[in-house]
Amino acid sequence: MATARGLRPREQEARIPHDGRAHVETCPFCKGNEDKTPPTIVALPNEADWEIRIVHNLFPVLGTESDRANISVGMQQIMDGYGHHEVIIDHCKHGMEIHEMSLGHLKMLLGVYRRRMEELFVSDSRIRYVLVFKNFGSAAGASIKHTHSQLIAMPIIPENVYNEVASSHAYYQKFHQCIFCSLIDEALTFEATIYNRGSGEVRRKVDVGQYVIERGERFIAIKPFASRYEWEVHILPLEHSSNFTRATPEDMADLAAVLKRTMQRLDKVLGGAQYNFYFHSTPRCEAFRDCDASYHWHMEICPRTTIPSGFELGSGLFVTTISPEDAARQLREAL
Ligand SMILES: [Zn+2]
Ligand SMILES: [Zn+2]
Ligand SMILES: [Zn+2]
Repeated sequence: MATARGLRPREQEARIPHDGRAHVETCPFCKGNEDKTPPTIVALPNEADWEIRIVHNLFPVLGTESDRANISVGMQQIMDGYGHHEVIIDHCKHGMEIHEMSLGHLKMLLGVYRRRMEELFVSDSRIRYVLVFKNFGSAAGASIKHTHSQLIAMPIIPENVYNEVASSHAYYQKFHQCIFCSLIDEALTFEATIYNRGSGEVRRKVDVGQYVIERGERFIAIKPFASRYEWEVHILPLEHSSNFTRATPEDMADLAAVLKRTMQRLDKVLGGAQYNFYFHSTPRCEAFRDCDASYHWHMEICPRTTIPSGFELGSGLFVTTISPEDAARQLREAL
């Protein structure tokens, strides 16, 4: 953390002006243009009057055509680009943003994320991970402006997920508790004051709930103490659960409420900031069959306010110009 850097000019990522248009004639994701996308996989609540539509991605990162054995040459490992890449049109209204969607709609959206994830795991035994994510803004990777998210089902466990699952498993073996549950407990119940040894002055103070952004009946939104992005927020189930596909309709209703309020807060403070969000849940993997007790599924929201520089890329260290306590306070006070 370098708050002094906050005073210096820093390359800021552009904010996206709010697009209130419900319908754009030339948009392939708008109603009436269904023939401009690949065929529908799922339409909710129904095909004729859909509010959410899932289609195959026209430019897939992974596809199902190739199905050959993996080959390696020396240290070069090659694998066919096998998998599924789907686009989830979040809302029939073109410029609708997550924080503006009704609770009923968000519940339906979260429900269909869960459903597709489960269906792909069940129908395709080669799939090891299904990543559901959203890109908002071109700097965050969105090429089409109509509100949408994506899903990529892959035959490998992505490194970020692997590292989380492996590290939390190691933590569990050492401390016999889930590290995510411990983080939630700490955010809700921990306070501390650290004094200067010589002068006795207060150096640092941690208050109960200082990192809590939003709390529902079943979910909590937390500002991580040491996050990569300065406004990063994670949403986790309060009750321990390792896999998103096991979330119930009641869970989805509460998650919808916590997500909406969290996105409202971020919008209020950051006004149109580009962002990504994605879900982390247990992969299908023999080596991690027993990670139900040690892993805890969650959602990570990463607002892209500043542009990572050579320092971030070269070192893997991320500089933030606002303390996690300040960021959390601003987000808490926003509504
Ligand atoms: Zn559109
Ligand atoms: Zn847990
Ligand atoms: Zn994660």
